[in-house]
Amino acid sequence: MRWSQTFIPTLREDPAEAEVPSHRLLLRAGYVRQVAAGVYAHLLLAQKSFFKIAQIIREEMNRIGGQEFYLPALNPAELWKESGRYEAYGPTMFKFKDRNDHDMCLGVTHEEEMTNIARGEIRSYKQLPQIWYQIQEKFRDEPRPKAGLLRLRQFWMKDSYSFDLDDAGLDVSYRKHYDAYCRIFDRCGLKYVIVEAYSGTMGGTYSHEFAALTDAGEDSVVVCECGYAANLEKAEAKAPPVEDPPGDAPPEAFPTPGQKTIDDLAKFTGEGPARLMKTLVYIVESQPVVILLRGDHSLSETKLASTLGTETFRPATPEEALALHGAHLGSLGPVGLKGARILADRALEGRKNLIAGANRDDFHLRHVTPGRDFQAEYHDLRVVVTGDLCPRCGKPLRVHIAVELGHVFKLGRRYSQAMHASVLDANGKEVPMVMGSYGIGLERILSAAVEQNHDADGMFLPRAIAPFDVILTAANMDDSRLRSAAEKLYAEMQAQGISVLYDDREERPGVKFKDADLIGVPYRVTLGKRKLEQGLAEIFQLSTKQIRDVKLSDVVECLKREYLR
Ligand SMILES: [Zn+2]
Repeated sequence: MRWSQTFIPTLREDPAEAEVPSHRLLLRAGYVRQVAAGVYAHLLLAQKSFFKIAQIIREEMNRIGGQEFYLPALNPAELWKESGRYEAYGPTMFKFKDRNDHDMCLGVTHEEEMTNIARGEIRSYKQLPQIWYQIQEKFRDEPRPKAGLLRLRQFWMKDSYSFDLDDAGLDVSYRKHYDAYCRIFDRCGLKYVIVEAYSGTMGGTYSHEFAALTDAGEDSVVVCECGYAANLEKAEAKAPPVEDPPGDAPPEAFPTPGQKTIDDLAKFTGEGPARLMKTLVYIVESQPVVILLRGDHSLSETKLASTLGTETFRPATPEEALALHGAHLGSLGPVGLKGARILADRALEGRKNLIAGANRDDFHLRHVTPGRDFQAEYHDLRVVVTGDLCPRCGKPLRVHIAVELGHVFKLGRRYSQAMHASVLDANGKEVPMVMGSYGIGLERILSAAVEQNHDADGMFLPRAIAPFDVILTAANMDDSRLRSAAEKLYAEMQAQGISVLYDDREERPGVKFKDADLIGVPYRVTLGKRKLEQGLAEIFQLSTKQIRDVKLSDVVECLKREYLR
């Protein structure tokens, strides 16, 4: 394509609204324009890139036997009410009425629609397994859309769904997807980790997340050099041991006037926060539950949900806490407490002589020893932090910021039971199909690629997903010799099937080079006056900043032989 006839609205200045590099660069390089919060128009360069990403995904999905469908995003609410997710998604789902007053919604994912097709058509185990996928738009009414194309309200997903007769079949489908995802992200040129993850509203039993490590993300993953990796919501770890003072003295109250927070109390007592106990009160399905953590740890509500087996809970109000403990927030503790289930994080197991609230305003207790002074159920309840010890090898873990690229879930029978999608097995018995669900966010792939491949001047996308392979820049179009050499090279590249953007604009060389740096095309061939006189052109690789001079007559061969294999 000729740049002079192509719409690539690059910006000289950084857009003020851009929060992360990928957002800034995709706007500056003329890939996208914002339409509304979390809603973006894809212009030519973005669209070319997304088509390449989609094609990679398509090839890898077809390779594992996936069959491509197209499903409408516009859904009747009834379908989602059957699975219970119409309510579960709450305001995250776009919901509205059509002109006939029917409740409608826009698909966040497509488990319900796929299950609906399967239950109507698949009758026998002989028709299994099936892998059905789609590459299309989905919708989420995010409370805080942000970070450009990382958290959108309308976005492109590849979602696939597997249907099997039994768990062993699901294992096979899951493994196929896992391997296909590795090939997809490898081919897209991304650096990523695969982490054990929490299934959330998908309601599955087992899942892995594919995450690109980049500071622009909003996801946290825990990584160990031994290969252990987990989503922060799910990660387990041992806390490094804390030395407690010796002695078996009974709990003893001491005044702590005005000391409400762990930080206050640590300063006041001169003890480290790890020597203090934090007492939280939650209301779980209308019953109070007391949660104990080490002072420097924080509660993972995800882990709390899986411990409790319900997501119906909330922090108690100050009044509810007062009614239970007889003291105000800041002085709560477990000793002598009655009328509530007490859960303690495992990091408190085996500790002694801790400091906890005394259930009396402005007093705390010292010498509190779990197991002797109060009884609790021990569970893993806290968020892992950098420096905690790996559950596999015992070395210190690191917490990284990441972008979730894809997620594979074992759904099991969650949807097939709720929606009555069953088949007859070999014995003629009706059994629910066993399902998996597997998603990839296309915008996230492009954004993560930009995050991982940019510098102050612009981005250099991996060739597999870049909108063009080569940008051909004629430094000065006023020079007739230069112009005709560039035209000739352009024609030759086209004849050889090279994906090339020819910058034939009547612009100053500085403007052309700046734009070429910006837009993410991995190779640049430059024709300049001086070198042309020696019969040379320049090949510049953006990612390595390597420049080499090549004879004009060899440029196309050299590109094909050394760069575009
Ligand atoms: Zn480890």
